[in-house]
Amino acid sequence: MLEEIVSTMYGKGLDRCSTDELYGALLSLVQRKAGEREIRGKKKKLYYISAEFLIGKLLSNNLINLGIYEDVKRELAKAGKSLAELEEREPEPSLGNGGLGRLAACFLDSIATLGLSGDGIGLNYHFGLFRQTFKKRRQQEEKNPWIEKPGWLIPSERHFSVTFGDFTVPAVMYDILVTGYENGTNRLHLFDLDSVEEKLVKKGIDFDKTRIRENLTLFLYPDDSDDAGRLLRVYQQYFMVSCGAQLIVAEAVERGSNLHDLAEYAAVQINDTHPSMVIPELIRLLMKEGIEWDEAVQIVTDTCAYTNHTILAEALEKWPVSFIEKVAPALVPIIRRLDERVKEQYKNNPALAIIDGENRVHMARMDMHFGHSVNGVAYLHTEILKNSELRDFYEIYPEKFNNKTNGITFRRWLLHCNPLLAAFLEETIGPEFRKDADKLEKLLDYKDDDGVLQRLQEIKRENKQRLAQYLRRTQRTDISADSIFDIQVKRLHEYKRQQLNVLYAIHKYLEIKKGKKPTRPITLIFGAKAAPAYVIARDIIHLILCLQKLIERDREVRPYLRVVMVENYNVTKAEKLIPACDISEQISLASKEASGTGNMKFMLNGAVTIGTEDGANVEIHELVGDGNIYVFGEDSDTVIARYERGDYCSRDYYEKNPDLKEAVDFIVSKKMVRIGNKKQLTRLYDELLNKDWFMTFPDYPSYVEAKERAYADYEDRRAWAQKMLVNIAKAGFFSSDRTIAQYNEDIWHL
Ligand SMILES: *Cc1c(COP(=O)(O)O)cnc(C)c1O
Repeated sequence: MLEEIVSTMYGKGLDRCSTDELYGALLSLVQRKAGEREIRGKKKKLYYISAEFLIGKLLSNNLINLGIYEDVKRELAKAGKSLAELEEREPEPSLGNGGLGRLAACFLDSIATLGLSGDGIGLNYHFGLFRQTFKKRRQQEEKNPWIEKPGWLIPSERHFSVTFGDFTVPAVMYDILVTGYENGTNRLHLFDLDSVEEKLVKKGIDFDKTRIRENLTLFLYPDDSDDAGRLLRVYQQYFMVSCGAQLIVAEAVERGSNLHDLAEYAAVQINDTHPSMVIPELIRLLMKEGIEWDEAVQIVTDTCAYTNHTILAEALEKWPVSFIEKVAPALVPIIRRLDERVKEQYKNNPALAIIDGENRVHMARMDMHFGHSVNGVAYLHTEILKNSELRDFYEIYPEKFNNKTNGITFRRWLLHCNPLLAAFLEETIGPEFRKDADKLEKLLDYKDDDGVLQRLQEIKRENKQRLAQYLRRTQRTDISADSIFDIQVKRLHEYKRQQLNVLYAIHKYLEIKKGKKPTRPITLIFGAKAAPAYVIARDIIHLILCLQKLIERDREVRPYLRVVMVENYNVTKAEKLIPACDISEQISLASKEASGTGNMKFMLNGAVTIGTEDGANVEIHELVGDGNIYVFGEDSDTVIARYERGDYCSRDYYEKNPDLKEAVDFIVSKKMVRIGNKKQLTRLYDELLNKDWFMTFPDYPSYVEAKERAYADYEDRRAWAQKMLVNIAKAGFFSSDRTIAQYNEDIWHL
């Protein structure tokens, strides 16, 4: 298959091709095969509109989905070439921050896998999210170029134009083909400007934030700590939704819509509030086509649906009317009119208003009033939305609220990232789980089968060894596969509480120093990027890196405890870390993590969770039962009540618990300050002692207890393998195929 392609492309044999030539040939093969399967000719189409699509590398996944992975691998091997080398060569597009963007990518995979007609709409960020490096134990940001020729982007024939307040720009659209697993192909449409100037980026990720024509799609979410950054973000959002709305309307007309019936031709899913301006923009376009106000509003409401991803108040977007006036003045009268309608209908209830008393537009409120569906992303999250956070809206629109517990694509997060486990599962329970994730439950029949339990442990060990090798090669750190791999990888945020895990690490370090050695060595692995302007998050990274160094240099502690921070955590790193994990850290403050999807990836790969009753952890707990997860900490009701009382005082906990006090004090000890930066360490210490907004101290004792219990249980290797088995067997519920089937059933009706 490949031999023929390289012969036509380069006029030579496979064995004589360079890595780049082979990569080019595979790109061409995938594009051709994927193109042959495009889903066409359906009346209604879904548009999943999102500011982020954290798609990861595409080559291997596409080969798997097209059913040619093994063939290609074999053919390459015969010519003395390795597919792994080509995988390494591919740059990772970092078009997302974390979970939200990764969810969008998993959804596109599942939509195509289920054979549904549905495309993604987003932006073609040239440098994506920054690439993280560590220098002097601090995070540094570099740009992450990923666009190359040949590459995955296919320029399209369609052209658009977007009118901002002061100027109009021509827009271009690139498509990335999205293959489904042994099924159809859809597209991810990424909009861009021809006039973007990559040379605007000088050192690191700094650039002139005011030159919109040149900088619009340079980066994902440029630093929004100042007004210029915030304004640029609104420019990006309007650019995306304006192009998206033009595409949606044009395609609907091409499929036969007269626009009065747009809702029968298009479903628009708004992923968080970044694309919310699509609502007034669609209304504007319909009115331009001669449709009256009331009808246009109804059509758009019937077409659009909104997904809420967070209850963190600071993350619910509110844009000053003045920003929208500058960026998209044509939308302002529409938004005002929508707001007037709401105020009239609901008697000026300020909690429901789109425009508040300070002239700010509440994007989520616009979505809830003028979309037909509002969904949360895990059972607990949706309950909190209904009962507290969005209670006023739930009372007026109970029929709009629904839950769609997140999921992950098993193609990337099992078949691709853990081929050993996938092959063993197929041997043991047959191949049906590949298409029907619920079939993983068949594994439960082998819960007492020593051979199966033994093999699960061997696979885990092999994956741990591969990770150790990878870290040796890429980060020059040596870790032992005989230690327990206890992993917390996710964005760095105080609510996710990496700081709680670090306090445990310090506690363990101090214990070892006093002569209390753990039965088996422990390797605590972290990976996390901090938003560049998020000071405390950067300080927490600094603390982790200081502790890593301290222990590396300590001959007494090093054999028993290691702290390792993986540089530049991204999808590629996740694919190597997750299959190698023994203990999955999901320790957010209860009520704060909407769902989490990392938790699902780990479970599927046979890690046992230590976690709070938060997000989808609640559902994991229910599925696996008490004996196969380590749950600790206060529950969401307790936490929410304490926030309402506003009487949390971290210092009280610190004073009453000498163990905790010792760990916290160590942050600013002589030993640490010698390695790290006194100002940063003190700032973090003060933050914990005087604020600790995400309440790590109340959960500290139960966290330590749960970790010790998990480490002790790990020593019964057979019983632990049974826990692994149950986690894998019960993970089927978290397939994004299930999630997407539910979206379609309840919201899209494709
Ligand atoms: C899955 C994933 C996330 C989300 O992890 P959470 O633990 O759910 O926050 C973030 N980043 C990457 C690269 C991922 O693959």
